[in-house]
Parts: sequence; C-alpha cells; structure tokens
Amino acid sequence: MTHTLMKLPFDEGALEPYISKETVQYHHGKHHAGYVNKLNTLIRGTVYEPMGLVEIIQKAEAGIFNNASQVYNHDFYFTGLSSKPSAPLGILLERIERDFCSLDQFKDTFLQAAANLFGSGWVWLSVDKEGKLVIDTLSNANSPLLLERTPLLVCDVWEHAYYIDYRNVRADYLEKYWDLVNWDFVSHNLTNYVKGKYIEFPCDEYSGACEFSEDK
Ligand code: MN
Repeated sequence: MTHTLMKLPFDEGALEPYISKETVQYHHGKHHAGYVNKLNTLIRGTVYEPMGLVEIIQKAEAGIFNNASQVYNHDFYFTGLSSKPSAPLGILLERIERDFCSLDQFKDTFLQAAANLFGSGWVWLSVDKEGKLVIDTLSNANSPLLLERTPLLVCDVWEHAYYIDYRNVRADYLEKYWDLVNWDFVSHNLTNYVKGKYIEFPCDEYSGACEFSEDK
C-alpha cells in the first residue's frame, strides 16, 4: 500500500501566533511529508509493502521503523493540536487527578519531561497495561506502541517543531503548545480505552467530536 500524508485538521495559519504558518508549512509540508515519501520508497518490494502503519511499526527496524513511526507520531501530534480552546473534563480530568494529583502537577510533569528530553524526541501521555496514565519521553522515533501503551497525546520536541518561532528556547514553545492541546482528542482516545474499544490508529477515526459531551 501507499501511505499518504494526512490532511491537517486546521488551516496552516490557525495556530498563530503560537505556532506560525511557516512552521506548520515546513513541519507538515516538508518534514512530515518527507517521512511519508521516504517510507513509501523504503517499503517498495519488501514484506512491509502490504502492511498498515501500525504493523510496520511493530515489525520493522532501522530506517523503515523510523520513517513509519515518524509518520504515526506526526499524525498523532497534528491531530492533537487545535486553536479551539478546550480543557480536560470528566473521566480524563478524574484520571489525571488520580495519577498526577492535580492538573497543574500533570502539566508541570509533562512539560518538564519535554524540556529535559535530551536531543530529539517525543513526550507521550499514554495508558499503561494497568490502566494508569503515564508520561514517556521517547528519543528519536521511538513509539509507545512498543511499550504496550495506549497513546492519548503527544508533544513533538524535535527542534524542527519550534526552531523557526522560538529558536533554541524549547521551554517557550512548550508553554504555547500547552494552550493548543486538543483535549477533545485526548478525551476521545481515553473514552475508547475505557470502553474497551480498541482503535488501532485513532487519528484515522477521530472526527473532532468529544464523546464525553455526547455521553453526558
Ligand atoms: Mn516533527
């Protein structure tokens, strides 16, 4: 199969002034697209060619793994951003308070982890095997899917995510990133997990509607 670059769920300039249109154009149009193209080139004629993205991530190594995982990670990152204000509510807020004491502590822990990640990588909020919310800092293209996690949210801390807007000041990017988190998407992912609904790749089926609002 041929993998395709996801369509952004917002206009390229929608995240301004926090994340500029130029950053989005480079990040999505060059970096993200580059991983998709490279993946398609690398899998041609291999056992990975007929596989979906998640299966490739679970089975491949080296360049094929790296590019497949970067496609997945970027799909997750961009789906998890929105200029529309939202907040963790309902069961998401309850679980955050249960596992991190408070929303403030969760924010501090998540952003500190992102600030302290050495080099390039990703910070994930996931559900672990015991149902606990956990934060993982993963270098390069590493994936929570290989840690038996159900991913809920990711922040990209590769320099290309913020260098145009914030130069080397990652901490400033992280503070602004926090204001752009699409908590409806995070809630949607947790709802599926709580309902026992296994969604292989939530970005593909997330419609932008918060299931919690419908449930209540
Ligand atoms: Mn990136």
